[in-house]
Amino acid sequence: MKWINRNDSEANFEDRRGRGRGRKNAAVGGAGAIIIVIIALLLGQNPFQAVDMVNSVVPGQSAEVTDPSRANENEELKVFTLGVFNSANDVWSEIFRTQLQQSYVKPTLVTFTDETVSECGGATAAVGPFYCPADQKMYIDLNFFHQLKSEFGAKGDLAMAYVTAHEVGHHVQKLLGIIDQVNQYRGRISETEQNKLNVKLELQADFLAGVWVHHAQKMNMILLEPGDLESAISATTAVGDDTIQKRSMGYSVPDSFTHGTAAQRTYWFRKGMQTGDIGQGDTFNDPGLN
Ligand SMILES: [Zn+2]
Repeated sequence: MKWINRNDSEANFEDRRGRGRGRKNAAVGGAGAIIIVIIALLLGQNPFQAVDMVNSVVPGQSAEVTDPSRANENEELKVFTLGVFNSANDVWSEIFRTQLQQSYVKPTLVTFTDETVSECGGATAAVGPFYCPADQKMYIDLNFFHQLKSEFGAKGDLAMAYVTAHEVGHHVQKLLGIIDQVNQYRGRISETEQNKLNVKLELQADFLAGVWVHHAQKMNMILLEPGDLESAISATTAVGDDTIQKRSMGYSVPDSFTHGTAAQRTYWFRKGMQTGDIGQGDTFNDPGLN
């Protein structure tokens, strides 16, 4: 994959690399905390309550850089991921405006090192990239991309781009009310049924990632090269639940699949890429998935 036009804007980007956990309570410490305690005492307030209040309004990303040597780690991957993120947002803004007559609200990209916090709870690099609907942010420890290459064998730029576009796909699902609809069923249906819904949600995000590839080419943002599709397919295969479960347990357990099989993920990604038509992505009413 080659860039024809890369948008390097850092709007809607939170760089937490080298910032430790980025915990809320890491935001105020040392001298800042002491000053707050003194002010609280002067005002006759409970100083601990005062510190808590300040902490609760200071977002995690303002936490100090705790490991400066890692603040610019994977800079090249950051530039690439940000480029895909911006490209996906530009594509979706256009589709929302022209096809859905709806305005598109951009998510935020958060890069972190090792662990961080989100409105959906704490996260370590081990969970892989994810999207949190509660804060509409997508979280990526860029070291995941090294793992994608070495452990999962998914080499090539389109493989990495697919991962980012998939997370933006979840944001599109959030804006369209699809994630909220699926969440309404949580706790009211069996685990097996819930897993089926989750699989459909994931496959649709794969489809939406494919739709991005289609339009990013049309809109002269990227140029695919020979081997790119295979590279992306190897990524969808690598992160398919059956592959992950086979690797970790030696066999597959279909009922606990939450992302779909490698074949299903490949099918939907490719369908999105070939059609570029959001009308073709109704994984929820696909007879093959019931
Ligand atoms: Zn997903």
